[in-house]
Amino acid sequence: MKNHRWVIKLGTGVLSRKNGTIDTRHIGELVGQFATLMQNGHELVVVSSGAIAAGMTIMQLDQRPKKTNELQACATIGQIELMSQYQHALHRHKILGSQLLLTYGDLDSKTRSRNASLTLEYLLSQKRILPIINENDAIANEEIKVGDNDRLSAYVASLVQADKLIILTSIDGLMTSLDGKGKVIKRLTKLDDQTRGLASGPGSQRNVGGMVTKLLAAEIAAKAGITTIIANGRTPDILPKIAANKFVGTTIKLSA
Ligand code: GLU
Repeated sequence: MKNHRWVIKLGTGVLSRKNGTIDTRHIGELVGQFATLMQNGHELVVVSSGAIAAGMTIMQLDQRPKKTNELQACATIGQIELMSQYQHALHRHKILGSQLLLTYGDLDSKTRSRNASLTLEYLLSQKRILPIINENDAIANEEIKVGDNDRLSAYVASLVQADKLIILTSIDGLMTSLDGKGKVIKRLTKLDDQTRGLASGPGSQRNVGGMVTKLLAAEIAAKAGITTIIANGRTPDILPKIAANKFVGTTIKLSA
């Protein structure tokens, strides 16, 4: 496991405004936080959602397309927009963005996952490059897709032997009740049926997974000895706060 190597997953809700358009200002803010961490010696890999949401906006769609090929087409249009927003923000901090599009089929293949790992190691060794990963939605059909970026980020964290997986979402963490009135569960050392029951089902038109896939991700990460933190990506300076061990969100440290 590599110290100060974090995989950060950004959900669609964190990257887009209420009307679904990409939140350029907030991407700029998050990138500023990445830059601070990188200056302080952190190695970061970002797993970013938002391609489908961005594509829906560009194509002026209110409903998520139901046909796979239409959804995939939408992701290909949105992905380029998403990356250009990152690129623009990273440029201000003299950081280079790099894009990797992966599927479960790649991670499941010894050769391809090793190639991805070697590429990532090289990128990280350069210290001024931020690898940004998304699922290769254009080709990811039922057989080879992960399906949600929460789990994808956990597989990536295992691949790069990260010491933390940080899942940034639009709520503060796993809550003690589903009605939104509960408190954040600060620390979890095991996942039982009761805890799983606190995770709500799939997301909305623009995002997938909800809390269910975040807990699944934490389980995948734990198998590689990685601690997962689920926190609110809209909390100011959330990443420096996590780095300073200021207890925010839900920390999930399960035995491997
Ligand atoms: N790959 C999808 C996208 O970029 C996101 C999947 C997810 O949010 O889990 O829109």
